[in-house]
Amino acid sequence: MASTAAEGTSPSGGSPDRRRSTVAPVVPTPEARVRLRPIGLPSARIDAGFWSERLRTNLERTIPHGASMLETCGNLTNLELAAGAEGQYQGAEGDGGNPAPFLDSDVYKWLEAVGWALAQGERLELRALAEPMIELAARAQRPDGYVDSFYQVAKPGFEFTDMEWGHELYVAGHLVQAAIAWTRGLGDERLLQIAERFVERIEAEIGPGRREAICGHPEFEMALVELYRTTGERRYLDFARTLVDRRGRGLLGSCRYGARFWQDHEPVRNAIEPAGHAVRQMYLDCGVVDVAVETGDEDLLDSALRRWDSMLASFTYLTGGLGVHHQDEAFGAAFELPPDRAYTETCAAIGGAMLGWRLLLATGEERFADMIERQAYNAILPALAADGSNFFYSNPLMQRSTIPEVLEGIATTRRISWPRIACCPPNLMRFLTTLQDFAVTADDAGLQIHQYVSGSFAAEIGGGRVSIATRTEYPWEGAVDITIDASIDQPWTLSMRIPSWCPNATASVAGETVTGGDADRIEISRVWKPGDLVRLLLDMSPRLTAPDPRIDAVRACVALERGPLVYAVEDADLPSGASVESMEIASSPDVEVDVRGAGELGEMVWLEFDGLLRSEAERPWPYGKVEPSMAGRAHPTRFRALPYFAWGNRPGRGMRIWIPRRP
Ligand SMILES: [Zn+2]
Repeated sequence: MASTAAEGTSPSGGSPDRRRSTVAPVVPTPEARVRLRPIGLPSARIDAGFWSERLRTNLERTIPHGASMLETCGNLTNLELAAGAEGQYQGAEGDGGNPAPFLDSDVYKWLEAVGWALAQGERLELRALAEPMIELAARAQRPDGYVDSFYQVAKPGFEFTDMEWGHELYVAGHLVQAAIAWTRGLGDERLLQIAERFVERIEAEIGPGRREAICGHPEFEMALVELYRTTGERRYLDFARTLVDRRGRGLLGSCRYGARFWQDHEPVRNAIEPAGHAVRQMYLDCGVVDVAVETGDEDLLDSALRRWDSMLASFTYLTGGLGVHHQDEAFGAAFELPPDRAYTETCAAIGGAMLGWRLLLATGEERFADMIERQAYNAILPALAADGSNFFYSNPLMQRSTIPEVLEGIATTRRISWPRIACCPPNLMRFLTTLQDFAVTADDAGLQIHQYVSGSFAAEIGGGRVSIATRTEYPWEGAVDITIDASIDQPWTLSMRIPSWCPNATASVAGETVTGGDADRIEISRVWKPGDLVRLLLDMSPRLTAPDPRIDAVRACVALERGPLVYAVEDADLPSGASVESMEIASSPDVEVDVRGAGELGEMVWLEFDGLLRSEAERPWPYGKVEPSMAGRAHPTRFRALPYFAWGNRPGRGMRIWIPRRP
């Protein structure tokens, strides 16, 4: 809990007050140039509804499952070896058949998730799993502060020699983020001490004024800024800024995928579009925004905004998924967004939401919250099976019925219990334990609701405390009730995002319709009294979505959406033997909403629509004259579509989001 955060002086002389700050992963300092501030735990809570169920699954199944997989897959063994045990470095094969060097990071991401989870309430079973891991990290740390089991066990003597692929700063970044969760959330500074000693060791090697180097995988930059925010140690911010400024100057050089792969092709300030490995680009830009707002560097912030705009305009899937290419997990060319060959790594979407959150805080613009919503429902949640213990690494927008179990590398056609390279599952765990942070922010004028969940949110405004309770069946229904639970004697503003997908939104107070705000929000300013009720109504009519014609792979197709959800059709809902590859949607389909409860997928809103199902004949050559020979035999069919996040939980392999539209 926030109130238990440690007092006393920092071992490195930082301000103890900072450590008692807001309990959230991203907490800009009071001096930072941001428009909005996070409210953190325990003031932000999700306590019912759609997300509440999923957060419970995360706590009760996903996170405990993660602990057992870290044990099974050798991540913990490696740290034991680093601590002096006898044995061989364990681990998945990375590039070129060598053991992967980043396995410690999965332990730290898991610990971060547990830190945020425990900050929401004691869970003895999670604490019992976490305690030995914290002790293990402490035992594994060398007297000189270094702690990275890969280099301690598999490559001793080669520390900081392979900045391209070694991932040492990436691992350190995740250690720092775990430490911040435990420090802010629980006042427990054991991980912080380990993290600061490791950072000091890294600083001595490649800090400002030392050898000029950067890590092939960004992540450390944002962690350093948060470490500065937690400890008050300015040198961490300087180090982060140094790393950002060094990037794009050829320090990593090229690799088989080119220098774009790790964003070393162009100075960060100059780069105008997202490039290379999608997760790296997202994590880099998180650090860029953090540095920019803490140093007041508008030019640097503008560069991140420019890349964001470019990313949305030309490089983002309908789901919010990021990254096309399998071989290098990278962004493709503008509008190169094939649905079946979509890589869309879960971590890339999580990185996208982390970046969107930072840009939302920096600018106050709801378009960033729009994308966080799209990614949370349609690019992150789909990675998790309904059972809470199986995962997709890659989240394509179409799956053919006939492809093998393992599509390529770590892209599988079924969710699996733990991928060979397991960055995504613990990332998902920590994302879910921090989900409440994305919902509501505060500024001097009032509260801003960005995400519609059932919960309670409170903040200090104008010297007093205001709090609201939200109740909604979102994303199934568009009504949101907001009750003022506590208020102050002065007027303040309640702001509610109007999602960009929503054609019509209205708000009423005590039955009286109110207007005000910009196109992306409704704002109501008044002297609020406890018990005041605001009802927001968002139009959730189903809609057909068309792609830009330059996205050739889905030209002449449409997708179905309703509210924040992207829909998909699965083989499981077609007549036996039929495949989604043979379906077409009517040119003007009659789309109906169908609420179905219980069942193996739980209560959900399905969509029904008209189309045709072709009977495909074997043909010696799959091309032919334009109409009518291409039409084949087709049967009018009423199709069912389910929210994309729920796909892949039943037998049958085929799935598609984009559906060819009958001319
Ligand atoms: Zn991943």
